[in-house]
Amino acid sequence: MPSYGSEIMGPPERDPTQRYWDPGIQTMPADALRALQEERLNRLLARVLGTPVALFTRKLRAAGITSPNDIGGLDDLHAVPLTTKQDLRDSEASAPPWGDYRFADPRAAVRLGTSTGTTGTPTITLWTRHDLWLEYESAARTWWRYGYRPGMIATHAHPAYLYGGGALLSGAYEYFGLLNIWVPPPDTDEAAEVGLRFWTRVKPDIPFMGFSTGRFFEVASKLGIDPLDAGLEFKGLPGFGLGKGMPLMTAGAECYAYVGGACGQSPGAHLCEDWAIVQAVDPATDRDVPDGEWGNLVVTTLDRDNGLLRYDLEEACAVMREPCPCGETSARALWGGRFSDLMSAQGKRFQVSEIESALRLVPDVCEPSVEWQLLRPRDPSARLDIRVERGSGASNDDELVAKRCAEAIAGALGVDAIVTVLDRETIPRSGYKATRVVEP
Ligand SMILES: [Zn+2]
Repeated sequence: MPSYGSEIMGPPERDPTQRYWDPGIQTMPADALRALQEERLNRLLARVLGTPVALFTRKLRAAGITSPNDIGGLDDLHAVPLTTKQDLRDSEASAPPWGDYRFADPRAAVRLGTSTGTTGTPTITLWTRHDLWLEYESAARTWWRYGYRPGMIATHAHPAYLYGGGALLSGAYEYFGLLNIWVPPPDTDEAAEVGLRFWTRVKPDIPFMGFSTGRFFEVASKLGIDPLDAGLEFKGLPGFGLGKGMPLMTAGAECYAYVGGACGQSPGAHLCEDWAIVQAVDPATDRDVPDGEWGNLVVTTLDRDNGLLRYDLEEACAVMREPCPCGETSARALWGGRFSDLMSAQGKRFQVSEIESALRLVPDVCEPSVEWQLLRPRDPSARLDIRVERGSGASNDDELVAKRCAEAIAGALGVDAIVTVLDRETIPRSGYKATRVVEP
């Protein structure tokens, strides 16, 4: 007789003092890890050709690959053509609704999410129970590194419903053993207040709100709520500010949400190499760039029910393989931003986020949050046209505030900007990712 109700919904308990979440994998010797990747890659190729998964089979055949053994190992992977988001979009459009790139029957999946991209119809991501488990285990490695332990209270404000990210994060927190408080994204002041008021009742130990953190600080200040009473603190995650670029924490929900996490001892994020091959690729040659140099972030997922083969996220990535003093043996990667966010002006190239980092150096525009927009430059030689809201406690002299902002931007990016100082709450707010670049 099966005994119903005794199934375990979470991972086996760990000793809270142990150093790694999954020591067997996280300290596996590099050559054994590589052998595991090659074995799983071979299995992935066999599934593509054997199922067959039409989109990837077409790509392999076009490159003359008709057997998994045509790819001898990781060194041959460059022969496999890249796949982009647009390929997935086209595939779903020509064979709606799922497209012809799925490895598993969509009805074998238990969760669905759509992408948040602003261009084109959102693509659909599917997770089976196994795919969710793999994401949860990957996330758990990172949270353990950060010092999170089961029994803590975590909160977040990720969007819900068709956007799969919120459910994925909630599920991963619960799997890990955290008490998960999911509040609405602060799209309006009223929505933000729901979260803030609740946190004054149940204060989270882990208040990470990602993109929407600034919004909560702003609404807390309007309502007269002390952010500390709501557990809101900028604690900063480990590994930021080490080296140029951010640790590569995610390859997108559609590919690998929790692909890596930083240990804080070396630049970059330790990658879950047992479940992914992460490459920094030169798009001109399809080959890996040398370690430490920027290329296109290309991910091949391993051991999933729904996989992606050589998926080019069109974002910048650098891979580093020098041993890390933390004892983990995986490669690490840095994330350098989306190419669609890469701007060019006055002969300089920079990420949109670098403007915000520069503005953060000007206290007049920082409290309680930095709110700004850039008019998309039409003339590459013209000065940048930036609007920024006055912060609380700012100098009354708007001209002086504008000058300070322009100096900060010139100092950080080496480009000239015309800065206009606006009243508070002139720029539209968003509960998730604010629109920073607007069409003139
Ligand atoms: Zn490390």
